[in-house]
Amino acid sequence: MNKQELRAGGLVAKPGEKVQGFMTVTGTDYQMPATLVNGTGEGKTILLTAGIHGGEYPCIQAAIELGRELQPEKVKGQIIIVHIVNPPAFNARLSYINPLDEKNINRLFPGDPKGTISQQIAWFITQELQGQADFYVDMHGGDIHEELPPYAYYPGVASAEVVAASRAVVVKLDVDFIVKSSATTGAYNSAAIRGLPCILMERGSSGLWSPREVELYKKDLLTVLGVQGLIEGYDSVPDKESMEITKAVYLDSTCSGCWYPAVKVKETVKKGQKIGEIRDFFGEVLETFYADFDSIILFVTSSLAIGQGDAIITYGI
Ligand SMILES: [Zn+2]
Repeated sequence: MNKQELRAGGLVAKPGEKVQGFMTVTGTDYQMPATLVNGTGEGKTILLTAGIHGGEYPCIQAAIELGRELQPEKVKGQIIIVHIVNPPAFNARLSYINPLDEKNINRLFPGDPKGTISQQIAWFITQELQGQADFYVDMHGGDIHEELPPYAYYPGVASAEVVAASRAVVVKLDVDFIVKSSATTGAYNSAAIRGLPCILMERGSSGLWSPREVELYKKDLLTVLGVQGLIEGYDSVPDKESMEITKAVYLDSTCSGCWYPAVKVKETVKKGQKIGEIRDFFGEVLETFYADFDSIILFVTSSLAIGQGDAIITYGI
């Protein structure tokens, strides 16, 4: 029998209880909608965060629905779900940044308790949420200007044990690709470096969402909970094999203007093939991009507008 209270951001769930409400980021008045599910049986503590980027709707809706549907009496362990980490961006229909300080929360981990609000949010997630978790899922999708297939990352910069424990979960998901990440400052990358097994999920594109995408998102989240032993009946293998990407190139724009991709997501490209170009507002080509090796396209920015330093394409093999 589980006897532990589950506490996070001012919310408290007793054993066998589910609590929904707003978490408050310590030392601020910043609030995030969340669900705490404290199971009747003992088990792991799993953290799910959605909406670090406010324009990624399938993950946010999946978090809302899962928060309503999970029942403590069917859970062994504890589940923390943050439905939207970045409500200011969600409310303003903004991609990537938090409008309160114009920072991308997902580039600020592990955060800073004395920094700007986004740095404080990252610090709170690191200390109070990841700090009590045994496994972490950071839920994303194609933001308002992003086109991508369903895929999931596992951390590549961490101890061999953490990498293996993260990969063991990601291979169970119903996604097209699984990608080994070399990043370090994202919410899950930072967690992995500190010893917490974790993954990042991507599903949905271009500021859209559908009930079908939300169902598939929830199915994968239930698989994670099943594989981690919190719920029964969801630890089956995926319907299809995912292609594993171990070498990826993340191309950023070196100038601002108009972006014209020459490829689509999931398209295979040859070394030296043109994959897109940036032109100025008069149609003159400013920069042309080519693939460095035979690969598959994982992500394409879908907006015509492009700023200097913006991500434009990811490809890998
Ligand atoms: Zn995102």
